[in-house]
Amino acid sequence: MASNKELFEQAQGVIPGGVDSPVRAFGSVGGTPAFMERGEGAWIYDAEGTGRVDMVCSWGPLILGHCEPRVLDAVSAAAARGLSFGAPTETETLLAEEIRRRVPAAEKIRLVSTGTEATMTAIRLVRGATGRSLLIKFAGCYHGHSDGLLAEAGSGVATGGLPASAGVPAEISGQTIVLPYNDEQALRECFAERGEQIAGVIVEGAAANMGVVPPVPGFYTAIRELCDSHGALMIMDEVLTGFRCSASGWWGLHTGLADTVGSTDEGALGVPEREVYTPDLFCFGKVVGGGMPLAGLGGRAEIMDLLAPLGPVYQAGTLSGNPVSTAAGLATLRGADENVYRHISRVSAEISTAFEDEFARVGLPVQVQRAGSLFSFFFSENPVINYEQAKACETFRYTPMFWSLFEAGVYTPPSVFEAWFVSSAHDERAVNRVLEAIPAAVRAAADARA
Ligand SMILES: *Cc1c(COP(=O)(O)O)cnc(C)c1O
Repeated sequence: MASNKELFEQAQGVIPGGVDSPVRAFGSVGGTPAFMERGEGAWIYDAEGTGRVDMVCSWGPLILGHCEPRVLDAVSAAAARGLSFGAPTETETLLAEEIRRRVPAAEKIRLVSTGTEATMTAIRLVRGATGRSLLIKFAGCYHGHSDGLLAEAGSGVATGGLPASAGVPAEISGQTIVLPYNDEQALRECFAERGEQIAGVIVEGAAANMGVVPPVPGFYTAIRELCDSHGALMIMDEVLTGFRCSASGWWGLHTGLADTVGSTDEGALGVPEREVYTPDLFCFGKVVGGGMPLAGLGGRAEIMDLLAPLGPVYQAGTLSGNPVSTAAGLATLRGADENVYRHISRVSAEISTAFEDEFARVGLPVQVQRAGSLFSFFFSENPVINYEQAKACETFRYTPMFWSLFEAGVYTPPSVFEAWFVSSAHDERAVNRVLEAIPAAVRAAADARA
């Protein structure tokens, strides 16, 4: 049996960094990544045969856990009928209808293969619809790796986005204005200055790619109002939060639409104060494909109908709406019922609160931040509301905590800036494994030195 170390060395010979997506290389926690062999429910097994409780869940998609029988059956049946046709299938319509049932403001939906494509198409649409070029995004929000959306931080108003990646022409990053998240004043000033040039604002459902940073009360309502008063469009990127923070995503949780689906369960944490706003476009991914490559965008019919073949905004994909992916997505959404949302809400509250209590017991100041069932940790005295504050935390404490958990059989995100995920398969045995690992992990974080 090859060890993780051997597999990683072999991979590095042929794959840059040995991985097909950078965070998998364990760069921020150091050491050798586990090469995975199989998953079962809440457990993930590496090439050395070690099983751990999976708190990553493929970065979110596996809301029903690994190899859920109904999802596997749907996938096998679809695969047996054909892997791809490059022609429409009924499953695409059924999945689009299921998305719209949960998020009624997504009146029409186009399915694509990755979240990156969904956001890329959404920004092309808002530009096509408004005839304007500039896009506002918020520092620390991740929207996939397309050129214009990699533009990153730079505090203050209307910072011309500096490329966060080599290979992004300044002409392209210059079309993205990066503002601090949760800063209504900065947004207001930016609109006051360049309002007629702004095509749209893209924002994550709660920000969860700089650690979990929910919007402060009123911020999203302000985005909506400023977009309206300046003729710009609002894109909510729910690739991570969609169908996870509630049956109707972050938007459903935030607006109260999801009240009937477990989010208002007694004891549920991470439930924000209600606000009333409706984005023009939504981006979906992760859970919507149940672990297969599938994503989508949806929104107001008159905007969505600007997409080819009806309208002038082009978008296409050989594998878009793939029959096996849509089968996985449909089975996953159908399986993710009220009980599933209640369950993940309870499990995440139990685990995150146990960490919180232990941090308090040892006297280490840590902010446990939540958005629905998503949570993450900031080693900080004060709550974190933006990227600058997130980066200023004592991030070095995470590495020993990560490895302590890893050795104790708990697989968590190999970066302090990622959310933790649970699934309906996280049962008592899995939760107990995590709870037992907490005291040593918290001690390791407390003992860490910069
Ligand atoms: C993961 C993610 C994306 C990108 O999706 P991919 O499928 O990895 O391309 C976009 N937006 C958000 C909020 C995400 O979390």
